[in-house]
Amino acid sequence: MLKSNEQRLSESHPEGSPLIEMRGISKVFRTPAGDFPALKDIDAAFVRGEFVSVVGKSGSGKSTLVNMLTGIDHPTAGSVQVDGRAIHNLSENAMSIWRGRNLGIVFQFFQLLPTLTLLENVMLPMDFAGAYDARQRTERALALLERVGLGDWAEKLPGAVSGGQQQAAAVARALANDPPIVIADEPTGNLDSRTADEVFGIFLELARQGKTVIMVTHDASLARRTNRMLLLCDGELIETYIAAALPRLAHRRLLWLTHRMQVQEAASGERLADVAQPGCPEGPTGLYLVTSGMLQVQRHTGEVLAKVEAGELFGLQDALVLGKARGGQAAGTLELRVDGRSEMAAQVLSLSGVDFRQWMDESPASGAYLEQRAWQHWGEMR
Ligand code: ADP
Ligand code: MG
Repeated sequence: MLKSNEQRLSESHPEGSPLIEMRGISKVFRTPAGDFPALKDIDAAFVRGEFVSVVGKSGSGKSTLVNMLTGIDHPTAGSVQVDGRAIHNLSENAMSIWRGRNLGIVFQFFQLLPTLTLLENVMLPMDFAGAYDARQRTERALALLERVGLGDWAEKLPGAVSGGQQQAAAVARALANDPPIVIADEPTGNLDSRTADEVFGIFLELARQGKTVIMVTHDASLARRTNRMLLLCDGELIETYIAAALPRLAHRRLLWLTHRMQVQEAASGERLADVAQPGCPEGPTGLYLVTSGMLQVQRHTGEVLAKVEAGELFGLQDALVLGKARGGQAAGTLELRVDGRSEMAAQVLSLSGVDFRQWMDESPASGAYLEQRAWQHWGEMR
């Protein structure tokens, strides 16, 4: 099983250690029907100031995952560290104090108190934390309401404003104690798309101002606008590179690939693998997904046919297409070699030939998709 999300994360954010680190998080719900594993051995990390979306089908574990951060629920196993402090084993009391200072939480159903004005709703967490004196609280709450476009609505009751405005007020309330982290569970799930876009804009702005924002969403178009997506399937995280390279595959297929693909590395100029066609003595080879560096596809004679960069796939069907595109016949065995002209090593995720064949047998549609992708990519070289 691939467990390299953290490693990648620190590579893509070399400037610092993560603000939030979840390690080996499992959550088992005990139900009358038996134990249900809602999260399975999750590793995830978040750096300061990034905006991360958590996506996945209904029931995939999104809420359970963010509830491990908010302390609404506790992991069965594993640890959660925030800014170097373990929070997974805090007492309820210690957790609620910590949460009041460090987290702003926004839910799908705004959960404003209906008998309090928007202003009073926003002041409530300040009253609870006691961090600001009485006069400051009013000023601060007003400033927060202005920040989310509700300056003129401060004295209204939640029932007198629109859903989008209630959610904006809920965001202002989440910011009451100026927390470094904002966690939102489907904050736009109950809003029409135009209003959802406006509320999303508030979160984007918060991230720009340095807050770490983690947002669960169903909306793929919103998720794509965040810095990074965590994709959950059946309580497990799908490897980010795999999800990005094969966006049209079913989540279960992506998870299967996450389990089967292995990290492989080679230094500048080194040969990484042979990609052989059916009928070659080695048999058909698997699939390679470049995660860093640059690979060259070449014949054993040294003739370079193509380059494969980080984020791109290369496999059997590509070799066939390349072979046919170059000279009208199959290419024989091609090798993948790390581009020697740069000093950079390359890292790939590789799927063995055996696993690749199993995948194609179980899912011919995936094979057709890969083939079509290969033709789009290499076919034009003809
Ligand atoms: P999502 O937010 O992605 O829709 P959840 O995290 O709410 O999914 O739930 C993940 C899975 O765990 C679901 O199958 C759900 O039914 C189950 N689950 C969540 N909470 C509980 C609970 N308190 N008791 C039993 N099962 C639960
Ligand atoms: Mg949920």
